[in-house]
Amino acid sequence: MRVLVIEDEAAIADAVGAALTNAGHAVDRLASGRLADAALHDHPYDLIVLDLGLPDVDGQDLLRQLRERGLAAPVLILTARDDVHERIRGLDGGADDYLAKPFALGELEARIRALLRRGQPSSTQLAFGRLQFDTATRCASVGGESIDLTARELAILELLLRRAGRVVGKQQLFDAIYTWEADANLSVIEVHVSRLRRKLETASAGVVVRMLRGLGYRLETGRDD
Ligand code: CA
Repeated sequence: MRVLVIEDEAAIADAVGAALTNAGHAVDRLASGRLADAALHDHPYDLIVLDLGLPDVDGQDLLRQLRERGLAAPVLILTARDDVHERIRGLDGGADDYLAKPFALGELEARIRALLRRGQPSSTQLAFGRLQFDTATRCASVGGESIDLTARELAILELLLRRAGRVVGKQQLFDAIYTWEADANLSVIEVHVSRLRRKLETASAGVVVRMLRGLGYRLETGRDD
């Protein structure tokens, strides 16, 4: 699993990073809310460990913004604030669990195992930008509003989402919908992608399908301005 640890105290980040790496996770560490925000735009994480006391932003505010933007991954908050109100605010603000510092690494690992187990059924959820995609119900949505996409557009979108930020070849996209259009040629992908692009734009999904000539397509987060 890919885990993002957002923690400005190097000793804690080192210890948490090492423990989670030993547990078999791919761990990215960032020490500021601003950098974390950017990383979460670009990469899908399976779990986030979030310190509330960050140097540039309040962890609670960051969490609320991320949830509003459609972040689906479980979030475990770390807090030195031994205050029940802070914990309640964190859980109400979108955290899935919390640990008060100081904590035992063994407990952190156990809580993360529990969160990732709990996350299994919802692993049908893909998210990028403001876009949510449920691979079980085949529903793409933005802020709870579903986007009206054809089966072919959904298939293309799913593939782009699964490889968000990376290039997906036109042939790969074609292969994903080939069984439906046995007679089609590769150029039909351009038609589907251009329709998909228009629908995503209309829905303010916060993502763009960029064409890289001769290479394929890449799903990127759009600029809000
Ligand atoms: Ca801190």
